[in-house]
Amino acid sequence: MRKIMKFGGTSMGSGEAMSRTADIIMSYDCQRAAVVSAMSGVTNSLLEMMGDNGKEVPEYLNWLRRKHLDAARDNVSPELMPDYLEQLEHQLSGLGHLIHLYRQDEDRIMYQDALASWGERLSSLTLSFILRTRGADSLALTSEEVGIVAAGPPGNGGAVLPATESNLRRTLTPLLNQGKVPIITGYYGVDGRGRPLTFGRGGSDYSAAVVGHGVDADVVEIWTDVNGFMSADPRVVKEARTIAEMDYGEAAELAYFGAKVLHPRTIEPAKRKGVAVLVKNTFNPSGQGTRIHGLDRHSQDLLRSVALKTGLSIVKIYSSELVYQPELVARILEAISADGTTIYAVSTSLSTLAVVVPSEGVQEACARLKGFRDQVEAVKIKEDAALICAVGDGMLESCGVSAKIFAAVADVGANVELISEGASDIALNFMVGGSKAADVVRRLHELYIGA
Ligand code: ASP
Ligand code: MG
Repeated sequence: MRKIMKFGGTSMGSGEAMSRTADIIMSYDCQRAAVVSAMSGVTNSLLEMMGDNGKEVPEYLNWLRRKHLDAARDNVSPELMPDYLEQLEHQLSGLGHLIHLYRQDEDRIMYQDALASWGERLSSLTLSFILRTRGADSLALTSEEVGIVAAGPPGNGGAVLPATESNLRRTLTPLLNQGKVPIITGYYGVDGRGRPLTFGRGGSDYSAAVVGHGVDADVVEIWTDVNGFMSADPRVVKEARTIAEMDYGEAAELAYFGAKVLHPRTIEPAKRKGVAVLVKNTFNPSGQGTRIHGLDRHSQDLLRSVALKTGLSIVKIYSSELVYQPELVARILEAISADGTTIYAVSTSLSTLAVVVPSEGVQEACARLKGFRDQVEAVKIKEDAALICAVGDGMLESCGVSAKIFAAVADVGANVELISEGASDIALNFMVGGSKAADVVRRLHELYIGA
């Protein structure tokens, strides 16, 4: 049995949390490595240091030093402490140097991801010393050291799986075979020029799956602060429950639209190799969690989960040219997403293009459409809309699914504002007005998931 365990920011958030994390790692004796996030709050603080109101460097390094020393204090033995302190100081001075470079240089993008990645270097070091104190043969390794290769735009890279796999076979697999417990930095890989490239916020989940893929793990365990995926947001549906088991495809849909249980890209590397992903709660280790793997039979229930995303707007773009100029659609979408705005759904008709974006960026996104004045007749925005994502592989084998789902929408007097069906076999996504959204979710849950 070979497992990759990932611990998030809350599981690394204090000495107490790290001690609990170390207990969990020590409770197994199979081959194992951990991929870790920064201590909670640290990545945010690093990003703040890149802003205009960033703290003075010595003051900031002091804060980080204190935070990690607090976590180490009761958990690292006096024998190991000098070694830990030396390595911690080494990492802190590396960070100080980088912040200076960042603040002096005009080409800041060059240092941005390296800076953002620093919290993981500090947390992995600390946890590995805690494990050594408990007798494990543990070592901290950076993404550079194990060879996680990344490509893509700054702040939003992806792993290059074949290159990463061949590196990990050389760097990590032998350590696992020797019974060592490597603690690896999550969140980033290294680009073609040897520079850190992060995988987007929450990217450590994805790092763990990339490592699991590379070393052919049996399971990737995502240790977080919730019990797993749920059949609905428990704040909306009282009866919502933890989902024991689901298919890769269902998890990918839910991770994208639903609660932030998992970084949405986590599923893909795991699925490629058939590595199971298990979501577990660090603060409730005996809970069964959610097991995600390739299911060979479909669910009896129509739906597995109903996710809800509020705070969205529907932008309707009217143009009689649309149907004759397909490239116009592409250019409009490009303009809307130019500043990184996420497009959650798109729907087209003969002369209308409807695009769903977060409400917070909608005015700016529409301002970027000014350049299309000659082709676009009107732009209308409907704010306060919510996206409902009904997910279940039970949909694959039943007919009249849409009719059943939209009947539930009508039951609560809501109006379907936009539908994006068919892109996925196991998810039906549609928009309703924000004020009715919770009612729709409750009704769907009651009818097709049950108490
Ligand atoms: N530390 C990074 C973040 O806060 C990555 C992660 O935690 O997954 O986004
Ligand atoms: Mg997370």
